[in-house]
Amino acid sequence: MAIATNLGFPRIGAHRELKRAVEKFWTEKISEAELQQIGRDLRETHWKLQQATGIEQIPSNDFSLYDQVLDTTAMVGAIPDRFQWTGGAVDLTTYFAMARGGKGGKSVDATTAGVAALEMTKWFDTNYHYLVPEFEPEQQFQLASTKVIDEFLEAKALGIETRPVILGPVSFLLLGKSGTADFDCLSLLDRLLPVYVEVLTRLSAAGAKWIQIDEPCLVLDLTAEQRVAFQRAYDPLSMIAGGIQIALTTYFGPLAENLSTAVALPVAALHIDLVRAPEQLDDVLEQLPAEVALSLGIIDGRNIWKNDFEQSLALIEKAVDRIGADRILIGPSCSLLHTPVDLENETDLDPELRQWLAYARQKLEEISVLTRCINAGRESVADALSANLTAMNARRNSPRVHRPEVKERSAAVTEPMRTRKSPYAERHVLQQKTLDLPLFPTTTIGSFPQTDEIRKARAAFKKGELTESAYEQFLQACIASDIQYQESVDLDVLVHGEAERNDMVEYFGEQLEGFLATKNGWVQSYGSRCVKPPIIFGDILRKGPMTVKWTKYAQSCTQKLMKGMLTGPVTILQWSFVRDDQPRSETCQQIGLAIRDEVLDLEAGGIRIIQIDEPAVREGLPLRRSDWRAYLKWAVDCFRLSAAGVEDETQIHTHMCYSEFNDIIEAIAALDADVISIETSRSNMELLDAFVQFRYPNEIGPGVYDIHSPRVPTVEWMVDLLETALNVLEPRQLWVNPDCGLKTRKWDEVRPALQNMVAAAKSLRAKV
Ligand code: GLN
Ligand code: ZN
Repeated sequence: MAIATNLGFPRIGAHRELKRAVEKFWTEKISEAELQQIGRDLRETHWKLQQATGIEQIPSNDFSLYDQVLDTTAMVGAIPDRFQWTGGAVDLTTYFAMARGGKGGKSVDATTAGVAALEMTKWFDTNYHYLVPEFEPEQQFQLASTKVIDEFLEAKALGIETRPVILGPVSFLLLGKSGTADFDCLSLLDRLLPVYVEVLTRLSAAGAKWIQIDEPCLVLDLTAEQRVAFQRAYDPLSMIAGGIQIALTTYFGPLAENLSTAVALPVAALHIDLVRAPEQLDDVLEQLPAEVALSLGIIDGRNIWKNDFEQSLALIEKAVDRIGADRILIGPSCSLLHTPVDLENETDLDPELRQWLAYARQKLEEISVLTRCINAGRESVADALSANLTAMNARRNSPRVHRPEVKERSAAVTEPMRTRKSPYAERHVLQQKTLDLPLFPTTTIGSFPQTDEIRKARAAFKKGELTESAYEQFLQACIASDIQYQESVDLDVLVHGEAERNDMVEYFGEQLEGFLATKNGWVQSYGSRCVKPPIIFGDILRKGPMTVKWTKYAQSCTQKLMKGMLTGPVTILQWSFVRDDQPRSETCQQIGLAIRDEVLDLEAGGIRIIQIDEPAVREGLPLRRSDWRAYLKWAVDCFRLSAAGVEDETQIHTHMCYSEFNDIIEAIAALDADVISIETSRSNMELLDAFVQFRYPNEIGPGVYDIHSPRVPTVEWMVDLLETALNVLEPRQLWVNPDCGLKTRKWDEVRPALQNMVAAAKSLRAKV
């Protein structure tokens, strides 16, 4: 009999209960005991829900108060010295201090409190962020959190036998970092393993029959040495007294050349991702040893689409034919952490679109149906199969998904549409003449502080409590006052302030056909932060101008240059749930066309500088190096398509919130933006090196004001940074700007900081 399996359930709660509880705890509105109770309640709800849905292998320890990697760090006692942990069980104060910096997990700003949080980084190519473990050469490990055992027993006491989940030792080390140069974290494996052995031994003694060990690093490019580490790690783990069985899980891509490593490990089951990599099934079936079960990751754990049962059954039946149903587990491709909790809570979703969607809870039902289908035959689930077929056909044939005019236009895109009329050198001369900017022009990245007043007005408008014209008046007043302010500090290129935008992707999603906004599609981004990505379900059409009204109004308030603000196609794609019925590149190109139209409307409206933000280009990089080229090609093409329609005199800016450009500098240069602003203030301009080595010819605004910190940078500090930049850039290339938008800062911080920034530019002009 095939087994219905889950790899992890979203922990935030159907109504973001966990977010609220944790934040209340941080602000001392509830006690630790109250917080723990809310956690217990959520776990119980989720376990029972999975049980009721027919899931046989239900995960435990997938819950976390902040992050599962941080939980692992606590489990093995890898607490960096600065947290002054004195041994024993890791307490909540230390736990949250590692997550957020400062002391006591209270709202202390990491940069002011002195004790910095662990670094946060993206979990593979998802939009979830984990806390990076820190190791030192003398690192010691000890069992310092029994959470995984406690939660197993907690479920057991409820009468539910779970399969505890932990992050595997090799991935844990590979995902960590060391402050010591050239130190190989994997060299700590032998010291780390005894803790894992102890965990497995205790779980086994507690009655656990299975443990799920996640080794997602098995889908990455690995060195021979790293592959050997897996063998070294799993030999001792497979010999635990009591014989707990290991389900080794891989996800987010194909095992590819790591397959031989994976199938050689002494484990009881191997999980593979068949959503990202269905083509690997044949090879895996070929190479899997006879005593190992195969867990088929067939339901998309990364997206919100209903599963196509016929397609899935074809794969599952192939596996069953080859190795027999008794060796098959059926589950999601990865943990359901990356999907919203329950479609039932979407109260007013478009009914046609709703029938195409499945959130975590519905995905569990799909797993259950597919498993029953294998075990009891198609007749036993005939109704579910036919309902699924109806939904699939409806989506496949819906005119809301397929717009011939969009497809035709997209198919007719040509290289000249992606190419500016003249090369940068010529554009630069023309722009110099018409824009008449001083040397080292000053500007900002787009948003100004989102005050309570702005948030309230937007919320009131959305609820219908504020009329459209009252809201419009309010926004005009915001724009006018932002402009007055910018003139008063004498910035050179002004912005309208983005007060109308809640979020740089949602704002465009709401105005484009083919996008669907949800009310409850929340997924965890990190810690207590959740995001609600729009759903791209169909061909994308711009109904009309999206930003022109605000930008033109802003321009009418000033004689100075007004910069129009758009989000680029790659970022819109990257931060949405994307349709799975065509390549991402095609969807991205459609967005590129919509943004192109907006760019041209801005230009026609008299806007001569237009910024197209692309902070997500880098995070879209595929997990495997060999896939980078193809991705960068279409990503760059889509940006160029959005930008290149304008006249030579119109200046195109782009912005990216990071500065690791070494390995993608060619692609960045190929964007051919006239000006790029990047984040460098925290690295003392070192990260400009990539541009220098490449002899990047266009203009650059290396952020001189770190907007992630409340600290107000001094004039000297910024002059210093700019002079460092001038050591490697030509004066004509250098722009002066903060390193990101100012929406999260307070006006009291922004005012003196920008005043200093303008003073720094002026003092530099006086020097050259
Ligand atoms: N223009 C956006 C802003 O200023 C850019 C935000 C971003 O880069 N993430 O808010
Ligand atoms: Zn940014």
